[in-house]
Amino acid sequence: MTTFTIPYLNRELKDNLSFSINPTNTFHITPKEQIINKAIILHYEGNISEAKNYYELCIKKRCNDPRIFSNYGSLLIDDGKLIEAELLLLKAIELHPDSAAFYNQLGIIYINEKKFREANYYLKKAIEINLHFEDAYKNIAIINIKEKNLDKAEYYIRKALKINPKWIEAKLILSQILLGYKQSFNLVCPFCRESRDCRIIKTNLSKNKFTDKLISESRKPNKINTNDLFTRLCYSCLFCGSQFYDPMLSDNSLDILYNKGIVHHNVGWYNYKSIKEKKNQSNQRQINIIFNIASNYIDSKIGIYSEVNCPFQGLINAYDPISKEIKLKSVSSLEKIKSAERILSIEPSKEIWGMGCKSEETKGIYKSCRQQAIYSGLFQSIQNINSTVLLEKINLSSTLTNVIFYANTLDHLPNPINSIKNSIKLFDIIIILMHKYNSTVGPTMQHRMQIGNLYQNWNKLLGLPCNIYDLSNELKRKHKSKKEDDRLLIIKKIKTH
Ligand SMILES: [Zn+2]
Repeated sequence: MTTFTIPYLNRELKDNLSFSINPTNTFHITPKEQIINKAIILHYEGNISEAKNYYELCIKKRCNDPRIFSNYGSLLIDDGKLIEAELLLLKAIELHPDSAAFYNQLGIIYINEKKFREANYYLKKAIEINLHFEDAYKNIAIINIKEKNLDKAEYYIRKALKINPKWIEAKLILSQILLGYKQSFNLVCPFCRESRDCRIIKTNLSKNKFTDKLISESRKPNKINTNDLFTRLCYSCLFCGSQFYDPMLSDNSLDILYNKGIVHHNVGWYNYKSIKEKKNQSNQRQINIIFNIASNYIDSKIGIYSEVNCPFQGLINAYDPISKEIKLKSVSSLEKIKSAERILSIEPSKEIWGMGCKSEETKGIYKSCRQQAIYSGLFQSIQNINSTVLLEKINLSSTLTNVIFYANTLDHLPNPINSIKNSIKLFDIIIILMHKYNSTVGPTMQHRMQIGNLYQNWNKLLGLPCNIYDLSNELKRKHKSKKEDDRLLIIKKIKTH
């Protein structure tokens, strides 16, 4: 049932009301006006049964006030007394023929009575009076859903959303419409960056530490509507297989989420803490294996080595200009910051930097993830692995190789292709470890997308001279475990000089 529950107070009448309920003016109020005000205030305060009594009293006393008719009408719709409600609204319109809200309410009554032609007529009248009346557009969309004109329904609900882009109810209606009838959509795939045929796939509803945290956060003031997050539509690009959330339906909640601080990439933080505390041996082993594979593609001594990590920006400047060797342990903060600047030029958004992202509390003070990454030594264990594995394999030629490692990061970024392009300009070798890919459900909540497996197309998308090596199978083989099915890629710049 579509109903309206908030008592009608349009601007001119609201002004009237606030004037007449102003205590200093009670002197001038007639007994009829007193009853009207009492009824509206009771309704506004949610005391419905008392409000009804007062509205009845108003009608008995022949108070010809359109607010009485429309407000009481709305309560009667809730009770299913549609014919009475209709008569009251017609009366309200007779007294106040220029109110878009009254026509809208009458339209709602007719929708409930399944008189769709009449409903459509009055809702369009409401729009004639007020072109920006989002509720009337939404109600016309509802009529079209009921009459199975889903193309039209989509048209009207998008109009409503254009007026009020953050309207959750309208977003949900749109997602229902689209799920109901569309097989494929033409959308700009966030990975391909081109208009593609996409189809709807299941949203990933699995809960993890991240979503748990999110839900507990949502109980606090300024809360995130978790329902809103979990009802987002998810698409799959039929060209590259990448999966992503509907840009129209996702951004406001996703933005809230990404700026939420402590919940930002919570799972990743947990993993890295485990590494730091040496609790997560399998992760260390994984990184060891990755660098073992990667070293086969590194021809010369490493100049700068940087890491971009899930959950946040981690970085290490590896090259010691005096000894001309990698000395990861002794790198100064200043050197790390220099390397940070290099990474900042790859992807300047707040997401990757975790600028607003708080990591952990020490004595009541939150440090940002970025600060942590640079100063805390959180990556010490990874640094150690890198230096031993890589130094063994380095070919001592005079040319230096600059390496960047994207560790489970790419699917957090707003424009992965762009970030890789920038990386190719600044580094010679790009190591990419990606999260597991699930073809049947969309990305998990903390990821913007699941990047597809069509690596043959990356060359064209990148448009820069490079070789792309898919080393996922080698990674799986070395893991000797079916569980580990992360994806590993190496992109090697083709030096032109
Ligand atoms: Zn695509």
